[in-house]
Amino acid sequence: MDETQPKQRRHEVRRGARVCGVVQGVGFRPFVYRLATEEGLAGSIGNDTDGVTIEIEGPAARVEAFFFRLRVETPPLARIDSVDVRELAAIGETGFRIVSSQVLGRVSTGIPADAATCPDCLRELLDPADRRFRYPFLNCTNCGPRFTITRRIPYDRPQTSMAGFPMCAACQREYDDPANRRFHAQPNACWECGPRVWLARADGVEIDADGPVAATIERLLAGEIIAIKGIGGFHLGVDATNEAAVMRLRERKQRYGKPLAVMVRDLDAARAVCVLTAEEEALLQTPARPIVLAHARDGNRIAADVAPGIPWLGVYLPYAPLQHLLFADERVRALVMTSANLSEEPIAIDNDEARTRLGGIADAFLMHDREILQRCDDSVAAVVDRAPQLIRRARGFVPLGVELPFDTPPLLAVGGHLKNVFALARGRLAYQSQHLGDLENLTGLEFFKESLDHLMRTFEIEPEAVVHDLHPGYLSTSWAKEWAQAHGLRLLVVQHHHAHVAGCMAEHGLAGPVIGLSLDGTGYGTDGRVWGGEVLVCRLDGFERFAHLDYVPMPGGEAAIREPWRMALGHLRAAGFDVTDAAMLDLLGATEQEARVLARMIERGVNAPWTSSLGRLFDAVAAVALRRRLVDYEAQAAIELEGLTVDAPEAPSYSIELLGGDWMRREPVRMSVAPLWRELVADLRAGVSGARIAARFHAGVAMGFVRAAVQARAATGATQVAMSGGCMHNRLLARLLREGLEAEGLEVFQHRRVSPGDGGLSYGQAAVAAAILNKRS
Ligand SMILES: [Zn+2]
Ligand SMILES: [Zn+2]
Repeated sequence: MDETQPKQRRHEVRRGARVCGVVQGVGFRPFVYRLATEEGLAGSIGNDTDGVTIEIEGPAARVEAFFFRLRVETPPLARIDSVDVRELAAIGETGFRIVSSQVLGRVSTGIPADAATCPDCLRELLDPADRRFRYPFLNCTNCGPRFTITRRIPYDRPQTSMAGFPMCAACQREYDDPANRRFHAQPNACWECGPRVWLARADGVEIDADGPVAATIERLLAGEIIAIKGIGGFHLGVDATNEAAVMRLRERKQRYGKPLAVMVRDLDAARAVCVLTAEEEALLQTPARPIVLAHARDGNRIAADVAPGIPWLGVYLPYAPLQHLLFADERVRALVMTSANLSEEPIAIDNDEARTRLGGIADAFLMHDREILQRCDDSVAAVVDRAPQLIRRARGFVPLGVELPFDTPPLLAVGGHLKNVFALARGRLAYQSQHLGDLENLTGLEFFKESLDHLMRTFEIEPEAVVHDLHPGYLSTSWAKEWAQAHGLRLLVVQHHHAHVAGCMAEHGLAGPVIGLSLDGTGYGTDGRVWGGEVLVCRLDGFERFAHLDYVPMPGGEAAIREPWRMALGHLRAAGFDVTDAAMLDLLGATEQEARVLARMIERGVNAPWTSSLGRLFDAVAAVALRRRLVDYEAQAAIELEGLTVDAPEAPSYSIELLGGDWMRREPVRMSVAPLWRELVADLRAGVSGARIAARFHAGVAMGFVRAAVQARAATGATQVAMSGGCMHNRLLARLLREGLEAEGLEVFQHRRVSPGDGGLSYGQAAVAAAILNKRS
């Protein structure tokens, strides 16, 4: 044995490695410790500013195996972006150590996102022999809250809302043991030392003290509305199979029509309420646990009022131990779990705030004493054209960075107006905020500022430039101007539809020029008109408008969004119909008086702005095809129209005519929908079904934009198409466009990590600003 020792020594190697990505606060160091120990290697690991640093020493083959396993056995919440390995001289070290965190200079790894209870923790939760049996706050390095409980970096217990809960001896032992799943799990807790739950009335008086969870279940089964404190805020929970209870929730919340999300026990339960594809099942089970919009199953016993008028159901799985405990009772099948707020207000997070704001809605409050420091709604996703797409990017995704195609100086992109999200960017990464809701009032602006403060602290980003939308009337625009002036920062402005396409380009690293299809409801154009059906030729730092839906009037301006019949009147009139004739009035569901008033507004150009919006065209078609005069929420009519196509066979498309256009003179092609309206009205008069009309309409829109893209290729030579804008949430439209474009030999790109809707706008703004700033410097 003694003789082999020196020989073996000669084969020892030492390597240094820097690992970048999501590698802090996700159990990465104990994972590396375990790998090194299993491979019998010596060395150390420590956190540094950009990730972790590893030194590893031992037989060459074992070291190779270590680096191989590092990549393939990565813990569930970790993400390795790069591993840079360098040779070192072996020093004969023995044993493997975890060295203490040294936070030097700036930290770019920051805080991980919140993650759903992992399978190991779930097993302990339901195991009567485990010391954490039924403990509502168990977690480990592979799961639990992160972003929502963190005040500032570094991500260590004293900087979180767990600071007030000193660990008991048993928890501390786990926390200190590198071989334990709870090694440095900052929110580690148990019955002895951690937070607790209780049930209370709106006045704060505790009720059912001996069994708050059991009592909550009984109350839910009796049809009560319970405010339940979660990870990123309160939910309003109600039995989703109880029609009367769901109706009562809608009345008290003053939210009619808009679909409510439903939480079910597990994947089997989700399959019972929805028809799921493999991609949808995978999405449901990711650690982010988003709400997934999936095809509702017939006869699923979910109250009809949960998602009226559409064939989809927003379904999701429990992600916090407290939620698992509610579903541990077999009688609890499905719960509406909707953000606890009134209409578009930010979600409630604080116990007192919840009691005040929700006192008139909830019958009781299931509270706990672990403070939520960051409001964060549930994320919403769907599988669109075979791949996951984010509709609302919040819990589970924030504050993970999304890569930019190149380095950027520190900047802030403030986003748009509706469904606002801002982005802070520096270096290669853009950090989008959680979904902030509509920036229409001071409450929304307060949430914006609160979240901005937090993320600036978290990532230690001091913006040198501020980017805003072109719209002069947005609250985000005026705030950006004031803020830039107060801090002496550069100010940049980006057109709405350019930002959408730029976001898609940046996600895929496209330099352009690309043909950008930017299809949505509303965005301020360079001519002051309301754009939204745009074919743009884009680079990151600029664009030209190649084609757009022909302008039509929007009688009553914003009112036309809530009353889509107005939009239909504008379109029909532009297509040459007499909108005051009896058959038209019947189609519009309008009186002659109403039609005359609107026609006059249009003739005089009073409060009838011009728009090229595709979203508004969907509204207009839905208004006549579904006879839907009014909507309860934006795009409701359009979503219902898409819903009609779900089981409809393919149908020949309506026609869109491409008029004019001179690329050399920068005159855009006008896409006239007048022929589409003539064909559609003929179908309506012939009694053709709504489903067939909806199918023909989708096909027509797709065909029109495919033809415009083909013309753009002929004029510019660009062969890549980036599709963006809120209309890309429409599954049928997204698929028809991709198929049509690919059939023409064009290469198609869609959003995957960032929302195509206004929630993704700030990422696109950041990409444009980065490109412009890089060019100047
Ligand atoms: Zn766990
Ligand atoms: Zn403990």
